[in-house]
Amino acid sequence: MTQLELAKEGTISPQMESVAQGEGVEAEFVRQGVANGTIVIPANIKHTNLTPCGIGQGLRTKVNANIGTSSDYGNIDTELEKLKVALECGADTVMDLSTGGDISAIRRAIIASSSLPIGTVPIYQAGIKAVGRHGAIVKMTVDDLFSTIEEHARDGVDFITVHCGVTQSAIAQLKQQKRVADVVSRGGAFLIGWMLYNERENPLFEQYDRLLDLAKEFDVTLSLGDGMRPGSLADATDRPQVEELVTLGELVERAQQAEVQVMVEGPGHLPLNQIEANVQLEKTICKGAPFYVLGPLVTDVAAGYDHITGAIGGAIAAAVGTDFLCYVTPAEHLGLPDSEDVRQGVIASRIAAHAGDIVKGVKGAEEWDRKMSLARKKLDWEEQAKLSLDPERSRQVHSKHAPSGSACSMCGEFCAMALMEEYLGVLAEKC
Ligand code: SF4
Repeated sequence: MTQLELAKEGTISPQMESVAQGEGVEAEFVRQGVANGTIVIPANIKHTNLTPCGIGQGLRTKVNANIGTSSDYGNIDTELEKLKVALECGADTVMDLSTGGDISAIRRAIIASSSLPIGTVPIYQAGIKAVGRHGAIVKMTVDDLFSTIEEHARDGVDFITVHCGVTQSAIAQLKQQKRVADVVSRGGAFLIGWMLYNERENPLFEQYDRLLDLAKEFDVTLSLGDGMRPGSLADATDRPQVEELVTLGELVERAQQAEVQVMVEGPGHLPLNQIEANVQLEKTICKGAPFYVLGPLVTDVAAGYDHITGAIGGAIAAAVGTDFLCYVTPAEHLGLPDSEDVRQGVIASRIAAHAGDIVKGVKGAEEWDRKMSLARKKLDWEEQAKLSLDPERSRQVHSKHAPSGSACSMCGEFCAMALMEEYLGVLAEKC
């Protein structure tokens, strides 16, 4: 039975129990959230070494790290190293987006080494296989696509991005819209090329029930992809994007009726003042299904620093109700991320997620900051490091210029904290 089936019949599964314990909430709260579709627990029955993670309303905002090879770079070793870094830095899930080398072997190695939920985008591999077998992505057969999805499900993938909302009607909107950046979703581009070449409807939309049957068999969570997401601020919240979202709303309902867990992916490039509207649109149209945003990136011009651009957008998105942030690394728009990019991307997104959680009132979020402030007041440097998102970096920076006293090298003997302690005795009074 899927987590959704169990939740609907009133059963609290071990996975729901585990999520509740990790979040410090009641197991019944998690069960209700799964039952009404506002929480998902991506947990493929074949992923045996999984520590379950809940994504959705009332829970901590989660962070995903994308890893994976390209045709130019990467192999099993590089990707397992990135997985290790993502785990160490506190990512909640990992997506293997490999498009180079032995894609199946890389995916299996990642799943075997990961206690975190693993996501994939099966159409990447289906398209690449079609190039090998038939000479072009557009020659992919519908069975090629579904057999790849089944292979990923059998391997234990916990959630899959499927661009089911890229319909002929959305393509018509796209053509009329005359976007600046057309389509920036790789899966979306594969499908649009296939649909235009073959003059057919999207098989993931047309044969959605077949997809639901597969997802249900292994309890794979569907992450309904946003093939029409804006890749430029100029294209944000336009007709193709909204048309796709309306379709996704209908597909969310059908998935939930079929007892398949489902979440919805969102933009993309968005100006700051459109983030809240996008979150409200998704939450309304998709009846509270968990929202998984890619960034969002709040400017197009920060190449090399897009982990910062993404964290600014991610913080606002999380604060207004987004449940799941896909990280962005400094390599975004420029190249395949390496391990250091993964580290920077996960930390930046975790800052955004936590900043959002403080506003959302997530249990324990404010208390974490309060503890850090008290450690700062006490000039307790080891406690500050332990409470940091990146303890090692905290220690490194503090020890860079050795302080003469108990303060840090910023103000030295004129440390405000030390002066206040001397004249107000704040430390003795309140800590
Ligand atoms: S020296 Fe300055 S920066 Fe460092 S702890 Fe004291 S007040 Fe803070």
